[in-house]
Amino acid sequence: MKSILQCMDCGRQYPTDTVRYTCETCGGLLDVQHDLEMLRTQVSRELFDRRLGSLDFPFNSGVWRYKELVYPDIPSELIVSRPEGNTNLYAVPRLAGWAGVDTLYLKHEGENPTGSFKDRGMTGGLTQARVLGMTRVACASTGNTSASLAAYAAWSGIQGIVLFQNKQVALGKLAQAVAYGAVCVRIDADFDQNLALVRELSDRLGIYVLNSVNPFRLEGQKTIMFETIQQLRWQVPDWIVVPGGNLGNSSAFGKALCELRELGLIDRLPRLAVIQAEGANPLYRSFQNGLAPLEPLKADTIATAIKIGNPVNFPKAARALRWTDGVVEQVTDQEIMDAKALIDAQGIGCEPASACSLAGVRKLVAQGAIKPKETVVGILTGHVLKDPDATIGYHAGTLPGLRAEQPNHPHEVPATVDAISDLLMALNSGRER
Ligand SMILES: *Cc1c(COP(=O)(O)O)cnc(C)c1O
Ligand SMILES: [Zn+2]
Repeated sequence: MKSILQCMDCGRQYPTDTVRYTCETCGGLLDVQHDLEMLRTQVSRELFDRRLGSLDFPFNSGVWRYKELVYPDIPSELIVSRPEGNTNLYAVPRLAGWAGVDTLYLKHEGENPTGSFKDRGMTGGLTQARVLGMTRVACASTGNTSASLAAYAAWSGIQGIVLFQNKQVALGKLAQAVAYGAVCVRIDADFDQNLALVRELSDRLGIYVLNSVNPFRLEGQKTIMFETIQQLRWQVPDWIVVPGGNLGNSSAFGKALCELRELGLIDRLPRLAVIQAEGANPLYRSFQNGLAPLEPLKADTIATAIKIGNPVNFPKAARALRWTDGVVEQVTDQEIMDAKALIDAQGIGCEPASACSLAGVRKLVAQGAIKPKETVVGILTGHVLKDPDATIGYHAGTLPGLRAEQPNHPHEVPATVDAISDLLMALNSGRER
């Protein structure tokens, strides 16, 4: 049987070649459903292991390596790939010690072609845009979705249109969207308002929406879980910890893990921990009240990638939390930036939102939710170069209301070997104190 779109609430089905993001009957979010019964006989750990390191399109992509589980019916000629995925999974013993667990890995999705996990979704979204014959694609964005959309649209020869808020867009992300040639529109509205605008505009003009309300994006993002577990030699960690904004990843992870279990590729599920910024915490609030209906709020945090008050994927994320016996935690901007400084100083680096993962692990260990002996994988969602202002501001101590615990100040000295040598000597004696 071919894959279909299915309403998560009422179960109504639609063919995959229709432009549709929500259910016509009940307004519910749609899932791309594959015929898992049939796929069970076609996929195996060995199949995916054989494709590792492949030089051949499309299996050289860390998304399309799992083609059967992402979009089995798709002819390869339609696939739009940079290629993405194949990101590193770092064992980080020093950060594990800081967070209070024996075994911590960080999966760095900032190592994707445009520097964030959004590329894993965009390859699915642009591929589907070609299936549907769309000539224009659009998104509202806090930054990374636009950078990714702009690149993938350009790569596939489709016009890309991105709606930014006119404040607080991280410099690296804006620069990318401009550079890749998308139509960039700055609007005096926050992300949540821009998403509503883009959905209405696209309906009217026949443009394809590539925010994470698009279920084909989430199919691509599932592969973060597939790849993590394959990198762990198909051993299931106890916890997956991920920042939560529009909740696309949380949703995709839940679906991915259940599919792996249903296909017999793993025999148990890890628990999902979604970490939100304290100033953008609607899922956290809902979770505190037993996953009560979402109450949208006005979001504010230095982690602009998750500055979202009305996450569109809330119902799917809630479902993922139920499936995985998951938890939700919140962290302050100070905790986010301190965790980021530690990740950065390991030589790995990430943007502010990504550091929720590490800050969240430490908090959940302190509360006893995560046990020290459990194996934890944290997802780093974006690259350190995305938001240089946040990094520089933190170390310079110029971010309002935040302080740097261990600032790394650039030094200025006269242009002589003596001066530089004196400086290094002074620094090293300071260090041995
Ligand atoms: C988009 C984004 C997020 C939020 O992910 P959701 O799937 O919307 O919850 C987190 N971090 C970074 C760097 C992002 O770009
Ligand atoms: Zn429905």
